[in-house]
Amino acid sequence: MSYGFSSYGRPNQASNFATLDAQLGVKQSMRTAYGNTTIERRGDGAIAVKLHETDVVDFYSNCIELNAGGWYTITTCAVMNSYLPRGIQVASDRGKWYVFISGTPVRFYDGMRIDVRNGVEGACVLFNPDAPDTQADDRYNAELVKKIKTYVENLDHGTAYDALEDMSEDCWFCQGFGEDEEHLLLHMEEGCYPGSMLINAYKEAGYESNYQTAFSYDVGTTRFHSERVHKILTKYLKKHLMRGAVAVR
Ligand SMILES: [Zn+2]
Repeated sequence: MSYGFSSYGRPNQASNFATLDAQLGVKQSMRTAYGNTTIERRGDGAIAVKLHETDVVDFYSNCIELNAGGWYTITTCAVMNSYLPRGIQVASDRGKWYVFISGTPVRFYDGMRIDVRNGVEGACVLFNPDAPDTQADDRYNAELVKKIKTYVENLDHGTAYDALEDMSEDCWFCQGFGEDEEHLLLHMEEGCYPGSMLINAYKEAGYESNYQTAFSYDVGTTRFHSERVHKILTKYLKKHLMRGAVAVR
């Protein structure tokens, strides 16, 4: 794809409602060649391409619905593109997701429906009065990124070390739930860095059961791996606070 857009997944399945309906036959569901992806019939007549717990593509006889379920990742993009009919493709540009319909980019949003009654050549996004205002989201995100930068840069070794020490009773909410948007914004406004929140960030960063050890290692008495701590916290906050179809790297 040109224009600096990145796309993933080969359109080698190039499905539509009729082809998937024929493949399923009398079956309610079937596995696919992709890990964690199944094809399933839905009660409302749709045939879903389900990745983990999200119906990433719902094929109806007259339209296609797309949902990333908040996971704007290369995998989600690849699975969508592997099932979308040729001529419809998901791609990203500087983190923002788009759907190309016959070569024209349209901003992606979860729940968007593409009308395919007139085939792929005549496809268009169905009007939705509840569609998000992507320009407002962009403005919000631009401000947010600046706030996150300041907040994260203010986390120094002393603060991080204290957070590690006080973790058992620092923030009940972060210990229990953590990822609530308003709650995280409150910590940012107050300039607080509960250890439980930092631990949640490490947990999400892919350390699996070693996240406590990894955090302790990065914030020990004599060392502070500030670059890694800052990077992990930034990613965590962006993932939970940025609005719209934006990939977080
Ligand atoms: Zn908290």
